[in-house]
Amino acid sequence: MSAEVLRGSDGLNLPQEYRALLRPGETETDLRGNVHRLPRFFYEIGSWQEAHEIRLAPHFTLAELMLVDCREARLLLSQFPHYVPCAIVLLAKFLEDFRREADAPVFVSANGGYRSPAHQIGGAKSIHAWGTAADIFRIGDTFLDNAKSIEKYGAIASSLSPAVFVRPFGAGVGETDDHLHLDLGFASLTPRECSEAS
Ligand SMILES: [Zn+2]
Repeated sequence: MSAEVLRGSDGLNLPQEYRALLRPGETETDLRGNVHRLPRFFYEIGSWQEAHEIRLAPHFTLAELMLVDCREARLLLSQFPHYVPCAIVLLAKFLEDFRREADAPVFVSANGGYRSPAHQIGGAKSIHAWGTAADIFRIGDTFLDNAKSIEKYGAIASSLSPAVFVRPFGAGVGETDDHLHLDLGFASLTPRECSEAS
């Protein structure tokens, strides 16, 4: 199944119980004090089977970028449809470029792609709530759990676009020592069939 079957929907039209968790278009202050607007437009995913069948890029299915565990809000974890911000397609495109440049398969961690604003890791302050970030634990046979591999692949990711940010290696705040975090900033995508009028 190609990504062409994806149809964007306006989060503001979702049932209240979903809006309470996804907070479409609402503002949130990040850990630096900067205010960002949470994603408003989502792809509606009907089942895990669909998520596994939808290829956002030649080597990345949607399922790989929305896999979360029990720290996700119950409604968003156990019931379908699931909702994923439309900017996830930009992340998949970048990961495909990264895979090509790294010349090896790229493995995204559980909880390492999209996490909703209601997820217990980071919540709405985390850029993962935009669907524009990925935590990568392995590339080919290399595990990203040491300075050498994180810095090597971080440099490759950074070289691909000025939009990319890679967390530096380390154990401090904003650093990582057991995966490679990369993101594209607080990007949102409005599907062409959707209106931002209200
Ligand atoms: Zn991350």
